[in-house]
Amino acid sequence: MTGRTFIRNFLICLFLGSVAQTAFAALVRYNETDYDMTVRIDPIARTIEGKSIITVINPREVNLVLGQAFEVTRALFNGNVLGAGREQVNQPYFWQIPFNYSQQHQFEIHWRGKLAALDDSLDHQQTLGRPIAVSGEAGTFLPDASGWYPRVADGLARYKVKLELPAGQRGLVAGRLIEESESEQGYRAAFEFPHPAEGIDLMAGPYVIETQTHQNINNRPIQLRTYFHPQISNLSRDYLDAVKRYLDLYEKWIGEYPYSEYSIVSSPTPTGFGMPTLTYLGINVLQLPFIRDTSLGHEVLHNWWGNGVYPDYKSGNWSEGLTTFMADYAYKEQESSEAAREMRLGWLRDFAALQPGQDAPLSAFTSRTHSASKIVGYNKAAMFFFMLRDHLDETVFQRAIQGFWSVQRFKVTSWQHLQKMFEMISGQNLQPFFTQWLERTGAPEITISEAKSTSADSGYGLSITLNNPHQRTS
Ligand SMILES: [Zn+2]
Repeated sequence: MTGRTFIRNFLICLFLGSVAQTAFAALVRYNETDYDMTVRIDPIARTIEGKSIITVINPREVNLVLGQAFEVTRALFNGNVLGAGREQVNQPYFWQIPFNYSQQHQFEIHWRGKLAALDDSLDHQQTLGRPIAVSGEAGTFLPDASGWYPRVADGLARYKVKLELPAGQRGLVAGRLIEESESEQGYRAAFEFPHPAEGIDLMAGPYVIETQTHQNINNRPIQLRTYFHPQISNLSRDYLDAVKRYLDLYEKWIGEYPYSEYSIVSSPTPTGFGMPTLTYLGINVLQLPFIRDTSLGHEVLHNWWGNGVYPDYKSGNWSEGLTTFMADYAYKEQESSEAAREMRLGWLRDFAALQPGQDAPLSAFTSRTHSASKIVGYNKAAMFFFMLRDHLDETVFQRAIQGFWSVQRFKVTSWQHLQKMFEMISGQNLQPFFTQWLERTGAPEITISEAKSTSADSGYGLSITLNNPHQRTS
């Protein structure tokens, strides 16, 4: 097994957790929730202590939840004491509050807890399967799905997070860094995410931070950072240079980068996550030399597709296919036409090897749960965009991509939105083209029914007749 195959199989880009499906589905009844949170973490004692002011505007009902590993020490609702939220220890907290009128409401929750010990022997799949808040001197990872902070269930929210860590530790959440200080007492940083976000993931570790400022396509500054463990801090420059190249590439190709920062964060476990404004990659993964040329670009591009334009999971996740096409596949095209052809052949070989029942229409893919869905959700969907570009021509495809970005930014977006944009720009009815791939399994079964030499004065020629059950073409 080569390193590259290994990484392809084990490092999946999970730009959104599975919880995102319900979160984004709920966008239409988005309650305008804001979190203003202060969190203190001690990775050696593995303790967390937090306070959150949660403001909800115009709710019909609020379901407020907190994971079972935590203990609420104070809970107020509009200044009055809130009920216990659970009947016994080791149950998750759950407060259900119905409302009959429109108004602004505020919760104030203080909580604390003991975090699970970091287990760096876990692989990526195990990390994915256990959304547990873990901490240790080598790293802290509080995934949103672990329920590490009191949150309004099934909704998007803006947030501010103030983070406090002991000296020697540094950390972050997705968003804009608005304050940062360091002293003998420890590290403090405040982050703000001003767009509706699906959740908050927090990372910390004994990081060496390297910062550079990059000008975006409209001359606005983007703060680029690496939060690397000391043993790989020498890789910072190369990673930051690579990120600049990807930002330049995708800004020219699609449009302005939607955020004012991008960070690459190292993890003690061999994981690979993409979140808005950052990617969280294992130390061992970051040390692999080809990651800068492959997976990193894929993760950067997810700030446009996935974390910039949100897939509508009810109609399928188009973002992995488009990201694979414009990142992994695009790099092969830049390399050579042979390399690109080889990648397409690989997709077809994997597709041909699917067992009966493993194939699915593109609209059925929501996130990657096993390798068969990668073959459809990433590769077959990337092939769809390849064929669409062939069908329309490159200039039209490019204009449609740019239009799609400018219209759908920060909106929940379906395959049908994509179709409409490509139809509007191309002036073509693309219904049959989209429907056959989105709603049907399989692929055309093309055979060569005839091949003959057509020698002429000018040289040799070959005439091939292709056959499939529905069409006949030469
Ligand atoms: Zn991805």
